[in-house]
Amino acid sequence: MNDLIKNESSSLSFEVFPPKKEEDFPGAYELLDKLSTLNPDFISVTYGAGGSKSKKTVDIASYIKNTLKIPTLAHITCVGNRREDIDRVILDLKNAGINNVLALRGDRPASMSDEQYNSREFEHANDMIAYLKKTTDFHIAAACYPEKHYEALDFETDLKNLLNKVEAGAGLLISQLFFENDAFYRFEEKARSLGITVPICAGIMPITTSKQLGTTVSLSGSTVPKKLADLIATYDDKPEEMRKAGIDFAISQINDLKAHGVGHIHICSMNKAKTTAEIVSAIR
Ligand code: FAD
Repeated sequence: MNDLIKNESSSLSFEVFPPKKEEDFPGAYELLDKLSTLNPDFISVTYGAGGSKSKKTVDIASYIKNTLKIPTLAHITCVGNRREDIDRVILDLKNAGINNVLALRGDRPASMSDEQYNSREFEHANDMIAYLKKTTDFHIAAACYPEKHYEALDFETDLKNLLNKVEAGAGLLISQLFFENDAFYRFEEKARSLGITVPICAGIMPITTSKQLGTTVSLSGSTVPKKLADLIATYDDKPEEMRKAGIDFAISQINDLKAHGVGHIHICSMNKAKTTAEIVSAIR
């Protein structure tokens, strides 16, 4: 992933999500302007489940690449996309000069019909990665799960499926967010022993409200360590203290990762520039 990860041993990147409404684009550009001052190696842009908002992902990624001159990674999912939909997104990305994609299967949105769900071209991320590898010159990244993907039978099966994605052409992995660093260390060791040599970015999400933790855990299935649960219990009704404690937790998590030789850090910014800036200034 040459223009995303220039330094083999360390990188700092952010994830943002595109605005839902057209009128929110100026605010999103303002956010990106602020994030750009933190000099990230790259900024990734999520893709709305179902695929109908792919243009917003491309527009935001284009602003990052062409206006801010920062490398960008556009997410794209199998779910919600027939072959022609994928081909259209590929063309939109090419037209915007974007050639880095995070190829994901996606999850079925509650509102999606059986017909639309079953009409997707690619069953799993590795199928789409193979297609992208064959039909484009994109650099391709994929997702990985330090605590196992929620559907996988067991950790070993999930790792073999991860190896498939790398062998299909993924040159960079970005992890699901996690709060227990030991889980990441165990995962990385097993992935390396299986022969996965590509860079693995550790996904870190600062938890700044108790509500956010509930949503995050139900989506990611990540284990919540006692220390984080205690913070929530202590500061639940004190928003500013909770925010500060959540930022401190993320900072100590990143510092511990770095001390263990994990150099590629990917912060899920949740589109919060101030929180991201506070973390970056503490870890640099
Ligand atoms: P896959 O790699 O297809 O894996 C899904 C499950 O199937 C796993 O259990 C795996 O073990 C198994 N599996 C994989 N390949 C095979 C195979 N060939 N045969 C049988 N089983 C197989 N979702 C969005 O909608 N938009 C986003 O922008 C987005 N960004 C994300 C960013 C990151 C860093 C991460 C970690 C996740 C993101 N997601 C996003 C969520 C993601 O779509 C879900 O986690 C989804 O459930 C799995 O996607 P995947 O690409 O890992 O799927």
